[in-house]
Amino acid sequence: MYIANCRIRGREGLWNVACENGKFDRIRPADGIIPEGATDAKERLLMPPFVEPHIHLDCVMTAGIPHYNMSGTLFEGISTWHEYKTTQPLLIPEIKDRARQALRLMAEHGVQFVRTHVDVTETSFQSAKALLELRDELKGILELQLVAFPQNGILSTVGGKDLMIRAMDMGFDCVGGIPHFEFCREYGVESLDFIFALAEKYDAMVDVHCDEMDDEQSRYLEVLATKAWERSLGPRTVAAHTCAMGSYNNAYTTKLFRALLESKINFNSCPTESVHLQGRAENYPKRRGVTRIRELTEAGMNVALGQDSIADPWYPIGVGDLLRVLEMGIHIEHLMGYKDLSKCLDFISQNGAKNLCIEDVYGIEEGKPANFILLDGKDDYDVVRFHSAVVLSVHNGEILSQKTPATAVVHNI
Ligand SMILES: [Zn+2]
Repeated sequence: MYIANCRIRGREGLWNVACENGKFDRIRPADGIIPEGATDAKERLLMPPFVEPHIHLDCVMTAGIPHYNMSGTLFEGISTWHEYKTTQPLLIPEIKDRARQALRLMAEHGVQFVRTHVDVTETSFQSAKALLELRDELKGILELQLVAFPQNGILSTVGGKDLMIRAMDMGFDCVGGIPHFEFCREYGVESLDFIFALAEKYDAMVDVHCDEMDDEQSRYLEVLATKAWERSLGPRTVAAHTCAMGSYNNAYTTKLFRALLESKINFNSCPTESVHLQGRAENYPKRRGVTRIRELTEAGMNVALGQDSIADPWYPIGVGDLLRVLEMGIHIEHLMGYKDLSKCLDFISQNGAKNLCIEDVYGIEEGKPANFILLDGKDDYDVVRFHSAVVLSVHNGEILSQKTPATAVVHNI
């Protein structure tokens, strides 16, 4: 495969990129001549693929079954999901089929690496088995990481610790958690001790739903960061959502940031989901329910943006398009100054790669696996402004998806 005359994100000028045996072979400045057999990129932007750091593939594509969430709230989402499971028993082929539908959408939009949470308090373990099978079937085509996610809590579920151990024994990649949803603070703290002990035992990564609520007293993030710091596991740890940080007072947050920085943990935010589900307990003025993406980034911490849901009881829309998530995030977090816009694709690419600890297979460098996308735009500003199509997505040197951008004809202007 030979791509000629492309821009490469982060580099000046135009480039020719040759891939061989699934790897980047030669990356050379373009000289204006399209070599024989090469594809003319027409000065489009070539960059590493988009990374989806946080989704729940066990729930995707279930919106409307048996009925839609009429209020749009988190609590009606939970009850609707319960109805789904009792009227449509979760079965491996059905779960895999829905997950594949979502992954095809993501592939179309340039995603090649996906971290999915899987509810392991669902004691049938059908979702766990289905997604483990899918992870192995898709290996080399599109990469999946699985998080053992205790939707109903670890201490607050009968046998919750054993369910987490069972998932890790089956080969899950990450230990998950939900400390703010445990019955009491002591359970939340104990769950975090358990999560890190499990991560050490299984040499696994940690990815915790943390303080996903508007309660300014929900303060498990300080515990998560401290536990990660104690065990030097920060770079392999993700604090997901941390919505409550959007409600913390500034004096507390200033103190908190010291622990966050020292711990070296990573962050994930899902702005489309959070702005939809949070802020529901109040009238006006209404908070945004999204963590401090801008402040964390300016302080030098790593924040990746994800979708969380595609067409499920909690979030009814979504098409696997991270540019849409990014657009929402930069609006909510006042990240549309020119400097912000000129590097905004970091949030859905390299920052996600850092969360997933896949930097060894990620990046446009000779010798690395040929994982890249070609966007119908010239730089970050252009891509986010025009919502550019991913015209080509290549994983390990093989084409994963192709798209011909739509053209419009406007008359009489
Ligand atoms: Zn989630």
